[in-house]
Amino acid sequence: MSSPRIQGWCPGALQPMLAEDGWVVRIRPPLGRLTQAQARGIAALASRFAQDTVEITGRANLQLRGITDVDYPVLLPGLQALGLVDADIRAESRRNLLLAPFWQADDGTTELANALALALNAPQAPNLPAKFGFALDCGDTPVLRTSSADIRIERCDSGFLVYADGSTTGALAQVGDVVALAMALARWFIDAGGIATPRKRMASLVASQPLPHRFTATPVPAAAQHQPPLGRVPQGYLAALELGQLPATTLAALAELAHLRLTPWRSVLLEGVEAIPALPDLITRADDPRLRIHACTGAPGCGQAAGATRPLARALAAFLPVGQTLHVSGCTKGCAHPAPTLTVVATTTGYNLIHHGNAASPADLVGLTPAALATQLQERAHATPL
Ligand code: SF4
Repeated sequence: MSSPRIQGWCPGALQPMLAEDGWVVRIRPPLGRLTQAQARGIAALASRFAQDTVEITGRANLQLRGITDVDYPVLLPGLQALGLVDADIRAESRRNLLLAPFWQADDGTTELANALALALNAPQAPNLPAKFGFALDCGDTPVLRTSSADIRIERCDSGFLVYADGSTTGALAQVGDVVALAMALARWFIDAGGIATPRKRMASLVASQPLPHRFTATPVPAAAQHQPPLGRVPQGYLAALELGQLPATTLAALAELAHLRLTPWRSVLLEGVEAIPALPDLITRADDPRLRIHACTGAPGCGQAAGATRPLARALAAFLPVGQTLHVSGCTKGCAHPAPTLTVVATTTGYNLIHHGNAASPADLVGLTPAALATQLQERAHATPL
């Protein structure tokens, strides 16, 4: 078996990425779902061939890291045997679909997702950038508007609305036309020069180019910001993981309970389950302070990090008042949380604090130690009106 290929910033299973702590493999489970056998199999593979904590990403994928040159050629066939690897790199990199995890078996979401995956892998499909993705948000109300996607498909009173991320208008479609419309919008992205925009994302293009007429006809309806639920929901039971870190032992235990759906909110939905046993690492209460922190891999796993992130985020969580989130980033790229919030960024001269911004925003305080950061957050918490 050949050695894995070094990639820039969007790993897959067939195309892993080399980090400081070994190869990173990203699994895109079909329909964002793991059968019990698949979940059990991933847990076993992670325990043997990777770090024994699996990461849930912001696009509801799974990431294994810390894989050696020797173990990758054994891990990959294991994932293939579980039905979790596409036929080739082209199919893997194009199947960038995020499904709202509350789909029902008879609501058409899975049929749309399969049809879209087929269309994206067709020979005539546009050659989209690696991060370009589609959100299938086909429940009664949209829940994915704050999740990363370039083309959004939502259910509406008259069928479906297909629209470009960043736009306030879209095109109405009946179920049989949704995929063709989404592909037309993807083709427009390429033809209009989206690939040449700095971020290669739809919202950047929409900010500078008029959309084709048919995608300007219908306003995107307003919707309240979705608060990801925890606990019992009609489709099963939702439990979250601190920083999206899912220990292999916990995954193995969940696999004994039910099939799993992955969410973009660092949580898992156990299909058809009404209650779960008290497993370590699972967060089931919305007021749990561990839900308030975001952190990327940081040092030593990421070569671009100027400092550790996750231990610091855990230590600072206790100082965050209810409703305040904290993002600790190893560098100004801010992989873990692009949206503005209270942010700490590691630098070669200490940690910078940004009162409200993303990792690239100007710092309010620079060169802080972890202890000084804790003091700042404590003072800030006391100054926050109740
Ligand atoms: S934000 Fe920077 S340090 Fe953190 S994972 Fe991304 S590139 Fe690495």
